[in-house]
Amino acid sequence: MRRKVLLFLGVPLLLGLSFLQCRQKESADLVLLNGNIYAVDNSGIYIEAAAVRAGKIIALGPTETIRKQIAPSTRVIDLAGKLVLPGFIDAHCHFASGGRSLAGLTLREAKSVEAVQGLVAAKIKELPEGAPVFGSEFDHTLFPGAKWPTKADLDKVSPLNPVILERIDGHSLWVNSLALRLSGISGKTPNPFGGEISRDPGTGEPSGILKEAATRLIRIQPPESNTEEDIKRALGLAARLGLTGIHTSSTLEELEIYRNLERAGRLTLRVYAWLPIQEIDDYLISNVKSGQGDEMVRIGFLKIFVDGTVSSSTALLFEPFSDEPDKRGEAQYQEEEFYSLVGKAHRNGYQIGIHAIGDKGIHWALNAIEKAQRESGKNGTRHRLEHCSLIHPDDVKRFAELGVIASMQPTHCTTDLSYCERRFGEERCRGAYIWKTLAGGGAVLAFGTDWPVEPLDPMRGLYSCVTRQNIDSGDPPGGWFPEQRLSIREAIKYYTHGPAYASLEESIKGSLRVGNLADFVVLSDNLLEIEAPKILTTKVFCTIVGGKIVFQSS
Ligand SMILES: [Zn+2]
Repeated sequence: MRRKVLLFLGVPLLLGLSFLQCRQKESADLVLLNGNIYAVDNSGIYIEAAAVRAGKIIALGPTETIRKQIAPSTRVIDLAGKLVLPGFIDAHCHFASGGRSLAGLTLREAKSVEAVQGLVAAKIKELPEGAPVFGSEFDHTLFPGAKWPTKADLDKVSPLNPVILERIDGHSLWVNSLALRLSGISGKTPNPFGGEISRDPGTGEPSGILKEAATRLIRIQPPESNTEEDIKRALGLAARLGLTGIHTSSTLEELEIYRNLERAGRLTLRVYAWLPIQEIDDYLISNVKSGQGDEMVRIGFLKIFVDGTVSSSTALLFEPFSDEPDKRGEAQYQEEEFYSLVGKAHRNGYQIGIHAIGDKGIHWALNAIEKAQRESGKNGTRHRLEHCSLIHPDDVKRFAELGVIASMQPTHCTTDLSYCERRFGEERCRGAYIWKTLAGGGAVLAFGTDWPVEPLDPMRGLYSCVTRQNIDSGDPPGGWFPEQRLSIREAIKYYTHGPAYASLEESIKGSLRVGNLADFVVLSDNLLEIEAPKILTTKVFCTIVGGKIVFQSS
């Protein structure tokens, strides 16, 4: 266009300059050559090469064609046959707390009470006398017998320091006697609404386990953490794992940290930040809306909890837990109050993400969205259910009917399958983590990890999708309800296109097309052609966000 105009002017010197500008304008900042580029676009074929300019894909095609876009300033990567995918997007994580978990006392590897005692005792040696000990990610289901531990276990190693340990799902605390005493929690303290103080069946005294709302009774605060440092730590890990985007829990303050990092050129992935629904009135006053922001940092959905978790017996169920016949979970709201809050968010144009795990919790969540759509119309917002662990058979079709995205974490299935059957019974488990059924029924799936509940590595999720086997034990052989296994292509789609759809950005990312954002992950092995166990050892060779290399293996 520009060249024609200048020709018209007929100024030879200008003409020469304009040719030069055009050549530079058409040349690429970055080209990837000789690869196996899998575009996640339904064509199913590999593309050899890609050219990138100004953060976007400008051409895809054979190496010989793309080579023509190389200028002296172009960065050239010879892929030597490596697989390239759209960068992974984790549709559900807690990025800042994940970063924090990389810094503190983590108990993820502790497979017994004794192991936790050892770590706590070692930590106390580093602390001033009487200072509280905070830890996270203990998982009693890994302990022999999978029994809940008690305050006495911690008193043994810590009589003089309060100890507050968070369960891996963030929904329960394990504390010692001193922490209970300093917080004024005794046998006379009633259970708060939506929570439970576990008690010794003999004495009625608190056992040392606090669930859901009861965790907020603890009055001992962790030392000030530096959220920006937590986020930077998390960014380093995410780049190494091939993540080019995340959907994460956030607050307006955290959002500001992401924006500052973006301005400083230090944000190495795209952030879709969800906010707690409790502050909806403030958002309405200050005009905070879903979708605001840019391609790097965007405001996502409002998050509301309908129930708790399976492991804490707080997931809301139609029928009691099979191994705890007196428990059907804990609703976090009265039913009508829940519907009205979802309705208010919908009416005001917000995307809503509902934490829903038990079959009754999911039923309520779908009811709430259906009611909201009936009252105020389908307004283009794509609501989501976070986790969707146990779905009643009658509710499966409602996901597609209501346009509700199933935001799920495949590793929850393969980590939890060992106790799912005990908790739900075999028959109900046919409705647990039913990726294949949901996809077959026309629902859109978006996969993530729930990090730091599960490790952030997308490879573990992909492996879980195609095997439905526990990553450590390999059990059960052939997979748990193997009819729900996905193909690797489906699994990849729900780690790329699915999350992009869930943030209403599938037209700019989540697949590799000309015009899309240049977000790539280059892998050491071809995931599409290897045996499942090799997925776990596949390494990220290079992570590229908006045409910039944010990680390259040495
Ligand atoms: Zn979560």
